[in-house]
Amino acid sequence: MQIAIVGAGIAGLTAARQLQSQGHHVTVYEKSGGVSGRMSTRRTELGGFDHGAQYFTATTERFKKEITDWRKVGWVVPWESKLVSLEGGISSPAGRTKKRYVPVPGMSALGKQLAHGLDVRTEQQVVAIVPYEKQWLLSVKSDLVPVAASAGPFDAVIVATPSVQAAPLLAPQSDFAKQAAKVSMEPCWTLMLAFQTPLNLPFDGAWVTHHRLGWISRDTSKPDHRAGERWVCHATEAWSQEHLEDDPERVRDKLSKAFHEATGSPVQPIHAVAHRWRFAKANQPLPEAFLWDPKKRIGACGDWFSAGLEDGGRVENAFLSALALAESI
Ligand SMILES: Cc1cc2nc3c(=O)[nH]c(=O)nc-3n(C[C@H](O)[C@H](O)[C@H](O)COP(=O)(O)OP(=O)(O)OC[C@H]3O[C@@H](n4cnc5c(N)ncnc54)[C@H](O)[C@@H]3O)c2cc1C
Repeated sequence: MQIAIVGAGIAGLTAARQLQSQGHHVTVYEKSGGVSGRMSTRRTELGGFDHGAQYFTATTERFKKEITDWRKVGWVVPWESKLVSLEGGISSPAGRTKKRYVPVPGMSALGKQLAHGLDVRTEQQVVAIVPYEKQWLLSVKSDLVPVAASAGPFDAVIVATPSVQAAPLLAPQSDFAKQAAKVSMEPCWTLMLAFQTPLNLPFDGAWVTHHRLGWISRDTSKPDHRAGERWVCHATEAWSQEHLEDDPERVRDKLSKAFHEATGSPVQPIHAVAHRWRFAKANQPLPEAFLWDPKKRIGACGDWFSAGLEDGGRVENAFLSALALAESI
């Protein structure tokens, strides 16, 4: 079959690899300039920042097996980090003992490896999926061409984007669109900080009790990351929601202040940039593993499906969801 996949995050790439290995012709459309989606690394002259997903964990045997394979080829390594709970500048053991993994040399590296050998079209935003006899056409927008172009026809289409972006694309399948629309996505404001000298804080990452911040981590404590003192800070969901439309500069200043309050460190950064993730984490994921209509051959996968896990919104959900959908096809 000729199959189109919308979105080149871990879900889209996992589905694409699996379907291609089964002999299908797969084309992946990605609206941004690179692959990996929310598993991303922001490049700066001071080094990279993993400003989306921080690491991933594995609870299922299937995902553990995949991680073992990724480790064998050197794509992923364990992050042996000291993680704490931090309140009022005082840290205490977090007591969370799960093994945490990171791609090297940065979060986006995994997507780049997974994309090898696939036909991935970046800077191509799919704006509509249109029925065409018993197939599908995609309406695709790129910065290079002023009007949306038509791509296809495809025998099948998989939408592997966050639920909120999937809903309008799935509209020809009204039930699927309704199901996607049920899953809201939490925002997350992120602050990237670099310092001239080490802060000498006694931890690599911390769950923070603070009205603005929920998590901070020393990006440069991750294996094979360029040396330096770079930190990533995630605002809480409530604060991010409340300040969703604020200017990035205002958010940067407020979160920088929060970082100093939370850590007690007075050192001023040499680099401070805020980034807004409008759709960071799926809230109340759908209980199934994926959506798929075998007659119309359209479906969806991603981290907004539980895919057999208790919770959603994680790399493992996206991987399991995509694999299950591809295998069922
Ligand atoms: C701040 C933050 C922290 C996180 N921390 C963790 C963590 O520590 N551990 C963990 O396991 N998970 C974490 N996550 C969640 C994790 O990143 C996601 O669960 C996972 O990356 C989702 O993968 P996906 O492929 O389903 O979606 P995405 O990675 O969002 O990929 C979807 C892709 O679709 C593209 N796209 C969207 N619309 C279109 C369109 N119309 N046309 C073409 N392309 C389109 C997007 O550009 C994107 O590249 C975090 C996420 C964020 C944002």
